[in-house]
Amino acid sequence: MDYEDFFRQRIGDLQREGRYRVFADLERAAGAFPRARRHAPDGRVQDILLWCSNDYLGMGQHPAVLAAMHEALDRCGAGAGGTRNISGTNHYHVLLERELAGLHGKEAALLFGSGYVSNQTTLATLGRMLPGCVIFSDAGNHNSMIEGIRQSGAEKHVFRHNDPEHLEALMRPVDPARPKLVAFESVYSMDGDIAPIAAICDTAERHGAMTYLDEVHAVGMYGPHGGGIAEREGLMDRLTVIEGTLAKAFGTIGGYIAGSAALIDFIRSYAPGFIFSTAMMPAAAAGALASVRHLKASNAERDAQQARAALLKRRLAEAGLPCIASPSHIVPVLVGDPRLCRQASELLLERHGIYVQAINYPTVPRGSERLRLTPTPFHSERHIAELVAALETVWRSLDLPFEQRAA
Ligand code: PLP
Repeated sequence: MDYEDFFRQRIGDLQREGRYRVFADLERAAGAFPRARRHAPDGRVQDILLWCSNDYLGMGQHPAVLAAMHEALDRCGAGAGGTRNISGTNHYHVLLERELAGLHGKEAALLFGSGYVSNQTTLATLGRMLPGCVIFSDAGNHNSMIEGIRQSGAEKHVFRHNDPEHLEALMRPVDPARPKLVAFESVYSMDGDIAPIAAICDTAERHGAMTYLDEVHAVGMYGPHGGGIAEREGLMDRLTVIEGTLAKAFGTIGGYIAGSAALIDFIRSYAPGFIFSTAMMPAAAAGALASVRHLKASNAERDAQQARAALLKRRLAEAGLPCIASPSHIVPVLVGDPRLCRQASELLLERHGIYVQAINYPTVPRGSERLRLTPTPFHSERHIAELVAALETVWRSLDLPFEQRAA
């Protein structure tokens, strides 16, 4: 087989469909977020404004986070030096796990290299080890959950997105004696919609199922201490596992699960993605710890972010730009075509110095390609006005449809 030719052919498929991914080569500017420098392919260095970062609260540049990371780096050096079992457990990991367990009102927590790995290896391990396990998965679940469930080899049923009645219909015929797990998210990252957590827990409880909630896009962002939507709605004790990331609102890197002491010990002892991987850098754990602690005590960032998101949604509606309505901090603007979406993103970047990555299939369904805007507390009213004006210009130059302008 001509392997190289095979690789080029498959890349060609993506290019023809208009969904070949081109990375923006960026230097984030600590202290000046959301400003960044972009290294263009022709060697130019361009000053740009980030409008699609998942550093939702700008904690990636928070002085307390940076100071904690500098200090840990100087005290402990760079790498953890091993897996958690073989010399890699650093005291910062232990402190961070304690903090995260407390944040979610659980007995224990466990860190992973990323949120992706935490979902994939935890779900794969639960589904594989629980004898005869049946997993019920929301149709909108993230790829990391889908992959974990697939790898588990467990019987899987997909319920319609955010639909507890469909979940009920799928659960009813299953043998009550079989172990069951319902896996879903709180804030769905591409539409910004929010799960009916209480109703899903009611259904799961009726059938004796465990519940697994991905709060990746909600931790740090919702609840009086940043514990997520489950904290905001007083539901944390109804969830068997709460999973989160340290890489979005907390501004650093890594993922985790929180649950009972026995469940966490079980995953710690059986999950390959935890056991066979080097522990997170101590400095990263120290930075995450500072971030979690700060956002536990401070609502200022959350409140400012919500105010910015509301203002942006209002301004987009006033301009007739097709913003997908969402009850969360995520602001998607519909384009509906992969090539036009990429062109819109390129025009924003090249002509206006505004960076919003095009979101195409398979991240979103075909026909719902979009620009996903993520306002932060650091986006000023002027930034919002400039973004909306740039979007209007781009919409006109690509002949994209406007909606009726809100009054
Ligand atoms: N879960 C969801 C819903 C996500 O959107 C993502 C990443 O975007 C992840 C998990 C993975 O988290 P991480 O980026 O920490 O690997």
